[in-house]
Amino acid sequence: MKIEPRIAAFHADLTTWRRDIHAHPELGFEETRTSAVVAEKLKSFGCEVVTGIAKTGVVGTIRVGNSPRAVGLRADMDCLPMDELNDFEHRSQNKGRMHACGHDGHTTMLLGAAKYLAETRNFEGAVHFFFQPAEEGGGGGKVMVDEGLFQKFPCEAVFGMHNRPSVPAGHFAVRGGPQMAAAGMFDIKITGKGAHGARPESGIDPVVVGGHIITALQSIVARNVSPHDTAVISVTQMHAGDAYNVIPESAVLRGTIRAFKMEVMELMKANIERISRGIAEGLGAEVEPKVRFSYPPLVNNHDEARFAADIAAGIVGEENVDRNGPMVMASEDFSYMLNACPGAFVFIGQGGVEGGCEVHNPKYDFNDRILPLGSTFFARLVETRLKPAARD
Ligand SMILES: [Zn+2]
Ligand SMILES: [Zn+2]
Repeated sequence: MKIEPRIAAFHADLTTWRRDIHAHPELGFEETRTSAVVAEKLKSFGCEVVTGIAKTGVVGTIRVGNSPRAVGLRADMDCLPMDELNDFEHRSQNKGRMHACGHDGHTTMLLGAAKYLAETRNFEGAVHFFFQPAEEGGGGGKVMVDEGLFQKFPCEAVFGMHNRPSVPAGHFAVRGGPQMAAAGMFDIKITGKGAHGARPESGIDPVVVGGHIITALQSIVARNVSPHDTAVISVTQMHAGDAYNVIPESAVLRGTIRAFKMEVMELMKANIERISRGIAEGLGAEVEPKVRFSYPPLVNNHDEARFAADIAAGIVGEENVDRNGPMVMASEDFSYMLNACPGAFVFIGQGGVEGGCEVHNPKYDFNDRILPLGSTFFARLVETRLKPAARD
């Protein structure tokens, strides 16, 4: 493995930074301490620093020479609203807050790349380091784009990275085209007519209507979505009633939808609405189906995905890079940046640690062993993409 020796030399610092961020997790748009730490470090490296983008977002820039070319690198800074069950020294100090998705590691790997690139300046053009808030549901990436990120910091390509516990440390995975799903939520409010549980003929039972709707929604993926596409509809909540002997007045169903194309998301939305209305009308109830979309699908540009895979292969060897990496049903708001600028999102393996577990688990921890690898990957991306002309 070809870790950059200058980065390996400050591996202990990276570990200290990562554990400090891990111990002080902050939710989306509340990352004031984290963003202050990031801004302070970027300044100490000699980067130009802009704060207050998307509230707690930070952008650092290093410019070398007069080339107009520029590359963007992105890390996310927010944590999840959950309690940590680890008992090591760097466990969360904030109740109900935990870095259970490894964004502490992502932030640290990007800081490591910034430190190295600011020192060595072995490229021509600009590199922008995007530290974004609120990936876990708040859409901080969208807010940054809406606030003119790529107008203020134009980039020819943007790259992001996420750790994956299911991939061994020292491996990378990426694919051209769709890589992570679009997400959406739905609420279906059914209104019937409350009655005594022993006298159903005097009411309209919203529980029965809900049961039929749940069953019929299963036919959307099976019968409406093309077999060539991938989609999920999960009804994850049903709420109705409080008593054994009362037919409730209303019931609510909620759930999530996922797909890799917005056309498929639209198709599911239309079918959820039609099926809900049709069944409710048939059984004499009223219904308000509401389907809303959150993150769009994350679609990598083929050229940038290939470029990122080449960079990874140059570090860990071709045999440790999966160029046809997994299509993940989870969603990710880096998709908004990829919709605004060409680029790719890369998975970095972090598996193989003792007690290692999946992200969003209360026992999760980022694997500090891969910090210099992630920093080296970001650094080589920039040095290769923005190679000084004279050095060709
Ligand atoms: Zn997450
Ligand atoms: Zn994450």
